[in-house]
Amino acid sequence: MKLVMLGPPGAGKGTQAKRLAKALDIPHLSTGDMLRDAVARATDLGRQAEGYMSKGELLPDDVIVGIMGDALAESRCVKGFLLDGFPRTMAQAEALDQLLESRGDRLDLVPLLAVGEEELVKRLLGRARLEGRADDTEDVIRRRLEIYTAQTKPLAAYYRGCGVLSEIAGEGTPDEVYERLESVVKAQVA
Ligand code: AMP
Repeated sequence: MKLVMLGPPGAGKGTQAKRLAKALDIPHLSTGDMLRDAVARATDLGRQAEGYMSKGELLPDDVIVGIMGDALAESRCVKGFLLDGFPRTMAQAEALDQLLESRGDRLDLVPLLAVGEEELVKRLLGRARLEGRADDTEDVIRRRLEIYTAQTKPLAAYYRGCGVLSEIAGEGTPDEVYERLESVVKAQVA
């Protein structure tokens, strides 16, 4: 199954995506994790990414599309994948469609984890204290949410139009959210 996990920062995409990918036995490709790894290893990409990430800004589309194009070309992604944190702009969504189309493929399902803004800020500040993430200060959090609203939120309407969007309430415990996600995925397989 080929999925994109959509949702604002702090909605729990990472946690849910990891669990679902494991259950479906498909690779979980998180651009945020890849970039944090590149920063930690101080690669060229990492050095380039650091400034954008610490400000909560998005990296240029061509850089991200290049990384994901390489990742999706790996043989382990042939039978399916779960993308987390990509696409984040319409240009990235179109690039992904083209990439999949060129190999006769398409997305099966795009779960959207919906969580209200105040709850998101609360969660993100809590996570900042727990994990010490450099991009989780209050100003940067607000900026990331602004960018989400302006650039990523429109993807929901786009995927709805493609008939693959499925909105899931992201409030509640991780287990409760996962149950909702699982039932949407099961309905898709059935
Ligand atoms: P995340 O862990 O998904 O919230 O990503 C952390 C940061 O990595 C983002 O705030 C961006 O700076 C960068 N990033 C991750 N995915 C993308 C993407 N698809 N396009 C541009 N920048 C990205």
